[in-house]
Amino acid sequence: MSTIIAASRNEHKIREIGEITSKFGLKIISRDDAGVPETEIEEDGTTFEENSFKKANEIMKMTGEISIADDSGLEVEYLHGAPGVYSARFAGDDANDRKNNEKLLSLLEDIPYKERKAKFVSVITMVYPDGKKLVARGECHGHILTEPIGDNGFGYDPLFVPDGYQRTFAQLSAEEKNKISHRSKALEKLAEMLEG
Ligand code: IMP
Repeated sequence: MSTIIAASRNEHKIREIGEITSKFGLKIISRDDAGVPETEIEEDGTTFEENSFKKANEIMKMTGEISIADDSGLEVEYLHGAPGVYSARFAGDDANDRKNNEKLLSLLEDIPYKERKAKFVSVITMVYPDGKKLVARGECHGHILTEPIGDNGFGYDPLFVPDGYQRTFAQLSAEEKNKISHRSKALEKLAEMLEG
């Protein structure tokens, strides 16, 4: 079985990606387990594609092995795609989920529900030592509420109601969210590409 190195340190993400890649004879290990030095890879791209490629490519260069990275975030139509690639640090250097959600709500104050369209985006990039790359994008469309509801999940989950549902991502179980999430859609596409 070949090995691929994950640019992420998030065990949940590594497991999710590993469940797909293992079906194709690719065993995933974290960058820490692969002995990659502690360096931070700066996410200075302006698109999810740029950032996920940069992370996967840096790890590939450091290890010489197939590497995989994901980049994700929330795009709000009324805000012309913000917070986008800045989703994690939307409220500034000391941002956290609560502050990011508060900032989003204040920017959408008095905006009616039908104009609060948003989508979560996930881009997963796999880079091979010969320079070949696979890029898989998944999206989940929905609306932003006027107040947070629900305790599950993380990030903007309590504000996001996916299309076709009457509950936020933070009210869905992990299983329910995984069926429709941007990340699982990107993973499905990656699986199709690996099959090809
Ligand atoms: P990253 O790709 O893990 O760096 O995620 C970027 C940011 O996007 C996170 O810090 C969250 O704020 C937001 N985000 C990405 N995916 C989700 C999700 O599934 N739910 C809620 N927030 C998310």
